[in-house]
Amino acid sequence: MVPFNKPHITGKEVHYIYDAVATGKISGNGKYTQLCQHYFEERWGFKKTLLTTSCTDALEMCALLLDIQPDDEVIMPSYTFVSTALAFVRQGAKIVFADSRKDHPGIDEDQIESLITPKTKAIVPVHYAGVACDMDKIMDIANRHNLFVAEDAAQAIDSYYTGKDGIKRALGTIGHLSAFSFHETKNIQCGEGGLLGINDERFVKRAEIIWEKGTNRAEFFRGEVNKYGWVDTGSSFLPSEITAAFLWAQLEELDKIQARRKEIRERYYAGLKDWTKQNGVQLPSIPPYATNNGHMFYLVCPTPEFRSNLIRKLKDNGIHAVFHYLSLHESNFYKVKHDGRELPEADRYSDCLVRLPVFYGVKPEDLLGLIL
Ligand SMILES: *Cc1c(COP(=O)(O)O)cnc(C)c1O
Repeated sequence: MVPFNKPHITGKEVHYIYDAVATGKISGNGKYTQLCQHYFEERWGFKKTLLTTSCTDALEMCALLLDIQPDDEVIMPSYTFVSTALAFVRQGAKIVFADSRKDHPGIDEDQIESLITPKTKAIVPVHYAGVACDMDKIMDIANRHNLFVAEDAAQAIDSYYTGKDGIKRALGTIGHLSAFSFHETKNIQCGEGGLLGINDERFVKRAEIIWEKGTNRAEFFRGEVNKYGWVDTGSSFLPSEITAAFLWAQLEELDKIQARRKEIRERYYAGLKDWTKQNGVQLPSIPPYATNNGHMFYLVCPTPEFRSNLIRKLKDNGIHAVFHYLSLHESNFYKVKHDGRELPEADRYSDCLVRLPVFYGVKPEDLLGLIL
């Protein structure tokens, strides 16, 4: 069976883990954590980054940093992973779900403004499949209404947005805060892992404290204070050096991994173009301001039955293709709290979107023959 995902291993992970163990520094915020964080800061220009144990954790840090209070409202797409909403729900926020775009599962930017109320505190765009939301539009709305923007960039490493000013910026560097995932299903992975991106200087100091159980331990280790203690809320959001060492081996090979994933995606795209046209299947669209980072290749089928048949046909031929999110406004947990608005595009992607295997070792040519 060709699995849907097979986590790629570069070969150096064990070497760096051995090094971390041999040097005796296994808890968090050591050499490998620093290497990973500096890589993000230097390559993509974040003010500050902090490794976390997951993207879910990084999103929880966003909710704490934005000081989300009970009854604050947070706007996000319904077609996203549970964690995007959960991180804010834990603070008591009400989630106001927006629909997806017709041409793309990302949030319909043009709906956001009508969802804003005096209680709105933040917008959380999700760069689905690593394809940018229209960040000029979103930042403009946020600035005019005095809202924060936390980008869910879980799938968006090494993908970009070109704004009206012509500057190409990495996803995750545009909102006030952002969250990345290194779960084994993502392009760069360490099993479970994540990263908080901070672009607004005001959040840096408090983020370090929240990261280390509400203590000013980071300042202490830099010699800025002579003892450390409990100064704020927080949790144990930082991963061990074992995890960071694994991740460093992956980051070192980022360009190679990305090139391979993009090539797989392009082969699928080219191979299926005519077939999708003949069958009324929607191909992934990439707006002119966005790039593709080879995170995912999906098809949006004309009907749920079409999708079931396609998944079954592939399964019978030894290929595991999978659907994706179930709209969160329809979820068992949240539908009673949702305000009842219908979100037809989110539901359409829930019912009709299917993803084909994209991982370092997959051979698209073997799959294409079976679909066509
Ligand atoms: C993977 C993913 C997450 C969660 O990431 P974890 O690292 O598993 O917590 C959140 N949001 C989106 C959009 C994701 O794809």
